[in-house]
This record gives sequence, structure tokens and C-alpha cells, in this order.
Amino acid sequence: MILDFRHVIVRAQRATRVAFGVAGAVPSVSGVANWTARSFDDELLMTFARARPKAILLQLLILLPILGASALGPPLLPVPIGAFLIGAGLAASLFLADHWPKINRRTAQWVFLALEALHGSGWALLSLNPPVPDAIPDSTFLVFIPVALGGSALVFSSAIKGTMAAQLLPMLLADGIALMVGTHRLPSETLVLSIVVIVFFLYLAGRITEATRDHLIIRAEKDALIADLEQAKAHSDEARRRAEELNLAKSRFLATMSHELRTPLNAILGFSEVMEAELLGRHRVKAYRSYARDIHESGQMLLGIIDEVLDLSRIEAGRYELVEKPCQLADSVSECAHLLQMRAHSRGVVMMMMVDPELPPILADERALRQITLNLLSNAIKFTPSGGDISIRVGRVPNGEQFIQVTDTGPGIPAHEIPIILESFGRGSLAVKAAEQGSGLGLPIVRGLVAMHGGEFSIQSREGEGTSVTVTLPKERVLTPTPTRPKVVRSRAAA
Ligand code: ADP
Repeated sequence: MILDFRHVIVRAQRATRVAFGVAGAVPSVSGVANWTARSFDDELLMTFARARPKAILLQLLILLPILGASALGPPLLPVPIGAFLIGAGLAASLFLADHWPKINRRTAQWVFLALEALHGSGWALLSLNPPVPDAIPDSTFLVFIPVALGGSALVFSSAIKGTMAAQLLPMLLADGIALMVGTHRLPSETLVLSIVVIVFFLYLAGRITEATRDHLIIRAEKDALIADLEQAKAHSDEARRRAEELNLAKSRFLATMSHELRTPLNAILGFSEVMEAELLGRHRVKAYRSYARDIHESGQMLLGIIDEVLDLSRIEAGRYELVEKPCQLADSVSECAHLLQMRAHSRGVVMMMMVDPELPPILADERALRQITLNLLSNAIKFTPSGGDISIRVGRVPNGEQFIQVTDTGPGIPAHEIPIILESFGRGSLAVKAAEQGSGLGLPIVRGLVAMHGGEFSIQSREGEGTSVTVTLPKERVLTPTPTRPKVVRSRAAA
């Protein structure tokens, strides 16, 4: 129970900080409860003050008929005194409702309570000395006044604690004294009934004050939650914007760097080729020829990496433009397999192709299709040990989508490494351990190009059992051959 209470206080503290715009004021741990209670008391006091005019109007509506009826009854001194106390209390309360923010909150609360007690005493005088003609029994007022007063207080005055008590306690005291002293005008049963009514209203007022307070807490919490959500959304928007900016800057940097590197690389490649071929004369030292070959091969490798970096940065920056035209998926894949056949053979790996011969053409960027296939096949060849198999399947699924699947019997990829290898420059532990060549850009490029075609890319792999990579192109890209119109041959014989 205590824990629950602390929990509510801590939540409410956070909520009120937002609700009352006191952001930044961090109260000490020991002051949390007081600070929270004070903030809610301010709100309750404001609600009470705002309701004053309506509450006073209602009390005047109760008072005026009673005073009117008193003109017909016997003249009694307590009546004008009671009416004066009620009038003075209500007028002062109305004045204070307008000016309370200028004074200390606690003082304002006490003065309000004192004024409630003042007009409550007036009502007590009236209820014990009913100023009515003989036709109406005296005891009626003994119950009517607390009911009317209690009801109006419930509606308009339950915001601050003790208001109802201040109003009704004078009446309760008066009833108690009348009960003890005994009076023939006011029967003891009615006095007891009046006391029961007052106690009942006091209980109700306590409950309503609590409910009002709970309502305020919930409202403040809701406001705080909305503020938190808005703040979190603003943060995430800002973070996303910054991430996009950084990504764009990175892509621009890579694209510029790659471009700058290509120019000197072309000279290196050209001259090393000339030197290797000994076009301008034989080398005096034979080793120079093999050095020139090494320079040329290394240059070509570097150019490959630069091209990959350039492609990936273009894809990431959204600057890679697809040149779409109808093409046969099976033909593109077969050409790539043919190109790499020699490499596979030299590494002792067997490549097998299974192609659906009736695939309809698709609308795609042929260069991108080749790049996708070459990247997948060169990975399979690179990672499959001698004696292994690679199977390439090109086909379609029943819903019309076309796919390329490259499956190898290599070492496989550990499940936890798959997200890593799909990131730019991500390489698997096996590639690093075996010192295989590679930049870690092949798969991200494949993924990017497939996404640009609206397709899907998936890797199924088990350590020690091989890897299968599938690229699926959507059915919207499949071109249906336009049916040729049957020629209408008109016979003239009938004519
Ligand atoms: P890289 O140029 O390094 O091959 P990729 O992006 O193509 O870059 O591949 C990233 C990593 O994914 C590789 O370093 C390797 O660890 C792993 N990988 C890719 N294909 C295979 C495969 N067929 N078998 C085993 N591992 C693979």
C-alpha cells in the first residue's frame, strides 16, 4: 500500500511538472510528496474560486424564499442575524475568489474556510429558528436546509478539503446542543435525522474531493505522457534527419574519392600493361616483367573495389539510375556463369545450371542483373572448397515471380554473422580467417539493386552445410507476350 502511494506520488510529480509548466524544477527526494501536493492544491483552489459565483447564486436562491416566507411568520431576531452572516460570508467569499492569487495560497485557503464557517453559522441560525408561518412544520427546515446546503456544496465547493465541514459544522453543533438541551419546537427524531444528513454529506464531500484529486492526477499524467511522446517524436525525427544527412555526406565523400582515384589508376593500369607487354623494348632484368604484371593485377583489383564503392554510394544516395528494358533472366545468368566457368574450374569447383526454358522476358536493368549474378557466383566460387558444387537455378514461382538461386556446398555462414555481412564493408569471420580477398561490398550492392527492382533477397545458410542465396523479382516486372491478333480471312465465295 505504501509502495503504491509512493509510486503515485512519483508519477504525479513528473506529471505536474509538465502540467504546471515547472519544467526544470527538480525537487529533492524528500520534498517530492509535499511539492506534488502543493501543486495539486493550487489547482483545486483555483477550481474552488472559479465555482464561487455559481455556488453563491444557488445559496441566494435558497435564502430568498426563506426570507420571503419569514415576512409572514412571527418576527424573530436570529433571522436577520442569520441572513446578515450568510450575506456577509458569501460577499466576502466572492471578493476573495477574484483576489486570492495575490495572497499566500495557504492563507487564501484558510480565509475561504473561515468564510464558509461564517455563512454556515448563519444557516445554522436559520435552521434552528425557522422563520416560517405556522402552516409549515418547523422541523421541515431542520432537514431541508442541510440537504439544500450540502447538495450545493457538493456541486460547487468540494474542490478544497474542509469546505463542507466549515459550512455544516456550525449546524451540526447547533443540532447537537438543541438535542442535549431539548426543545419542544424541534423534535429529537428530526434533530437526529438532520445530524445523519450532515454526516452523510461530510462523508460524500470527502469522497468527491479525493475523486477530483485523482482526476487531476490522471489528467496531468495524460498531459505529461503526450508531452513525453511529442518530445520523443521530435528527438527521433531529428536523429533520423541527422542520420540521413550523415549518410548522404558519406556517400558524396565516397563518390568523390572514388572518382579522384580512378584517374591516376587508369595511368597505372595502362603503363603497367605496356611494360608487361614490353612494347617499348625488352626489360634487362626479367623480374621487371612479372612486377609489371603484379602492378597491373593489383591495379585492376583496386579498380574493382573503387567501382563497387561508387556503385554502393550511388545506390545509397538514390543516384543509381536503372536502365530498364525487356531482358531474359536466363540469358543474363547463363552469360555470367560462362564468364566465371574458368575460374570455378581452376579452383576445382563444379557449376551446374538449371534453367526454366520458357521464362517470359522481364523488365529490368541488364547491367544490374549481371552485377547481381556475378557477385553471387564469385562469392560461391570463392568460398566453396575444391571438390564442391555450385548449382544455379533460374525459374519462376506459381504466382509468376522469377528468381535466381545460387547454392553452394561451402562452409556456410554462422546465423549471427548474416546481419553483419549485409552491411557495407561487413565480412564474415571465415573470410577474414582464410584471408580471402574482398571488400565486403558485394552483398550490400546485390541487396540494394534487388530492392531498386522491387524484389526480395534472402540468404539461407548453415554452418558446415553450404549457403543458398535467392533473389526474387516481382511479377509486375514480368512481361506477358502480347497476343497476336488472328487474321480475319474473308471469303469472297459467298458474294
Ligand atoms: P566480399 O567481397 O568480402 O565477398 P560480400 O559482401 O560479397 O563481400 O560478402 C560478405 C561476406 O559474406 C564474405 O566476406 C563472407 O564472409 C560471406 N559470404 C558471402 N557469400 C558467401 C558464401 N557463398 N559462403 C560463405 N560465406 C559467404
